[in-house]
Amino acid sequence: MNDHTFRLVHGRQQLQSLGCSKDLLTKPIFAGASVLLIDEAKAKLDDYVKPLRQKIETQLILVLVATRQRLHELRAQFEKEPGSRQDIFEFEHDETQLLFRRNGLWLATTAQLVELQLPKDVHFSTIVFDELEKLQAYGGSCFQTLKLELLQMYSRPQLVVTSRLWLAAQMKELLQHAQQPLVLIKEPLEAAVYGGLQLKVELGETLTEQLQQLMDYLVLQSPKRQRTLIYCSGDSDFQLLQQRLPKDNYLLHRARQDMGRLELWQQQLTGKVLLLRNHSPELLVDNVQSLIHFNMPATWSQFRKSFAVLKNQIPNMLLDTMEQQQEQKLHSLILLNKQSQRMLPQLIEFMQQHGQPINELLSTAHAQLQATREATLVSRQCVICPMLLLNGRCLKPTCQYRHTLSVRDANCATVPTAGYMRFQLLKICTPSHFAARLLAHRSSMESTWHTLAMQQQYEDLQQELSNYYAMPEHRVVPTIEQLQQICVRQMDSNSYERVCATFVPAAVTPTAANDLTVRIKHLDLSTVIYHAKLSELLVCPQAWQQIKPMALDVRLIGWLPYNGEEIWQSSDIAAIAELLQHNGSYECSVVAALAQTIFVDELQVETASYTEQLHRQKLGRFDAKAKQRLEQLVNAIDK
Ligand SMILES: [Zn+2]
Repeated sequence: MNDHTFRLVHGRQQLQSLGCSKDLLTKPIFAGASVLLIDEAKAKLDDYVKPLRQKIETQLILVLVATRQRLHELRAQFEKEPGSRQDIFEFEHDETQLLFRRNGLWLATTAQLVELQLPKDVHFSTIVFDELEKLQAYGGSCFQTLKLELLQMYSRPQLVVTSRLWLAAQMKELLQHAQQPLVLIKEPLEAAVYGGLQLKVELGETLTEQLQQLMDYLVLQSPKRQRTLIYCSGDSDFQLLQQRLPKDNYLLHRARQDMGRLELWQQQLTGKVLLLRNHSPELLVDNVQSLIHFNMPATWSQFRKSFAVLKNQIPNMLLDTMEQQQEQKLHSLILLNKQSQRMLPQLIEFMQQHGQPINELLSTAHAQLQATREATLVSRQCVICPMLLLNGRCLKPTCQYRHTLSVRDANCATVPTAGYMRFQLLKICTPSHFAARLLAHRSSMESTWHTLAMQQQYEDLQQELSNYYAMPEHRVVPTIEQLQQICVRQMDSNSYERVCATFVPAAVTPTAANDLTVRIKHLDLSTVIYHAKLSELLVCPQAWQQIKPMALDVRLIGWLPYNGEEIWQSSDIAAIAELLQHNGSYECSVVAALAQTIFVDELQVETASYTEQLHRQKLGRFDAKAKQRLEQLVNAIDK
């Protein structure tokens, strides 16, 4: 077998014949079998579309999706088939009466379906839970209730479930209700979790400590009882283990001449530990029961792939003999030194996703790592996490943004923290986030507005910048160090904008510096972040650096995407463009403010309240807890 693609297929019967087929799902789905598909993080997860499309004319199918964006994507894919367009429906269009009359495919987000309250006498023969991990994360308890209702309404429907994670409890429940279930997993680490993997993570300061941790594990999980493999992260670890492990107890793989011994090892329990330099898919080892990582491989993706070696030991959950098989657990030990602890955020995220216990040592080390990282981000003036500014919290251990607010984020005198304000809309970033320029302010006690001359100031500054840079001697490209300050970017032949760098890649040689791409944020034109070459930037004179930014972020506090998504979808923003006008002037009341972000709680548009429209159009929903978290966040800054 030369195909190194990982693929685990489990059904109630032996499924050998399916193994060679390129499109594994077509035949089973067409035959009415239920399919649970788990693929890697970047996979599109739409292998089911093609076979399902052939059933649209003769059956009533429900496809439940997590976001409106996904709904549009899938609709476009289903419509590729000629003639299928008239058989595809959405619940938001007033076509629900059609449900009683004809076959076809119905697409809906959790929120849409919950609102509709599905009539009891409609019978879907196939139900698709598309991207289950997102349905669960975004739909929360609404999705759980809806899923239970659907499962109660129909006895053993054909279920098609896709996901990037093996969500044990959810999936076992779905498999129990499914007709002729089939599990197809294309991601090795998720397959290992499906197989009941027990993960143990140890932190070690020194090599001696790590060796001791390894020995302790080998006593508990003896290689005499289970085929054990150790992956080393590099040559030095490999050589060290070669010297320190008792010679008789391990098998080394160096080159082709060792292949025969390796095959023998795969076939029988020798009691020997297989020691490999790093992940070697070409060896096709697939019969391991206990896998050890002596420090982490270079990337998270390599780490995930290395679990492919457990493949043939993963028990088939769909067989009745499951309980006996479960007695033999799959074990894995991960030893982390200081250097490989950099992957702790990914490990912690993975363990959280799968409900694996995280001990105190591990969470302390993770917290320390995050604190150091946050301090670096603060000193580099990186942008605040958009999730934090939307929701008041960010729960993603691997998030790349900054979450610690600093003195620099504290509100400054030119930004109002209460009362009412008028602003000019510069850009719609999301339905609850705009780039704006302040026009006027009034306190809650007064009736007169104080005009703020920012527009005039902006025009004056533009003119001054333009005059200044007309002289070639003023056009100086900043050094990497000068990126810490406010710089200027040339927009076209005679127009310049102030910008600040929000991300500068580390370790650059001076010669390559001009080609360096940095992330910059506009300060006066809008608040948008762009990529720019360092050579496109200019040093800004000190006096103009002192001027406060003339574009600010205005955010509707507590307003979140309607379907519970983490972020707004681009299709939602298109809908907002019909409600608000670019450069239009709007009035709102201020709840709280940071140096560059004003949180407001309503926007007056001509016809009605803006937030009411957001809700009516199913674009946004108000979350009082998110509002509360944001208020606390702003108030907690040391001023
Ligand atoms: Zn974040």
